[in-house]
Amino acid sequence: MTIDEQSHLKKEEENGTNPKINRYWIQRYDLFSRYDEGIQIDEEGWYSVTHEEIAIKHAERCRGKVVIDCFAGVGGNTIQFAKVSSSVIAIDIDPMKVQMAMNNANVYGVANHVDFVVGDFFSLAPSLKGDVSFLSPPWGGPNYCKVESFKMDMLQPRDGYSLFKIVQSITPNIIMYLPKNVDLAQLEELASLSSPPLTLEIEESCIGGKMIAITAYFSRNAA
Ligand code: SAH
Repeated sequence: MTIDEQSHLKKEEENGTNPKINRYWIQRYDLFSRYDEGIQIDEEGWYSVTHEEIAIKHAERCRGKVVIDCFAGVGGNTIQFAKVSSSVIAIDIDPMKVQMAMNNANVYGVANHVDFVVGDFFSLAPSLKGDVSFLSPPWGGPNYCKVESFKMDMLQPRDGYSLFKIVQSITPNIIMYLPKNVDLAQLEELASLSSPPLTLEIEESCIGGKMIAITAYFSRNAA
């Protein structure tokens, strides 16, 4: 066994026994079906990566488009976008995340469809061009579900209203991946207060019949 393989196995054992990570680790194949082929995830990555089945649905909506994955993390969404879109720009502020996302995209054989960028989305936004912006910003840690109603100002690192304003300068086609308890009235408000108003479609993102998140699709293609 190589040293790399040994340290991978050791990490595996740790993840399986670390109580903080274990509840995500047991779902590892739902997160990455190719998990065993060398996927890398750090602690924040474990609790924030989008389930593969849901990431596939997000990507279906972006077929043939240029997608900006503004908070790419370890690449759960990026990989699925890379499979069907025309190209992907994957941004994360944490260099380790970007390195892991690159590795993981390689595992899926799609890394050459992705431009990986280490940087702050808010600083990069004015220079970005794309057809769809995908936003899965941090929800403030695993405690997001402890509140009855998740408000836009709980999103990290900036509140959802300023995030939405900034992202609109890139494209009106915006997908937001949000906690299941998000205040839907606030999402309606984001759409209706935009100028011109945007169309909003809400999708319940489910795993095994259980809603685990909400996906909001904003666009300018008013009916
Ligand atoms: N959808 C991703 C998970 C994203 S988690 C997946 O499926 O893997 C949110 C990510 O936002 C984290 O990796 C965090 O490092 C990143 N992030 C936080 N602030 C940021 C900023 N200002 N600009 C870009 N990325 C940021």
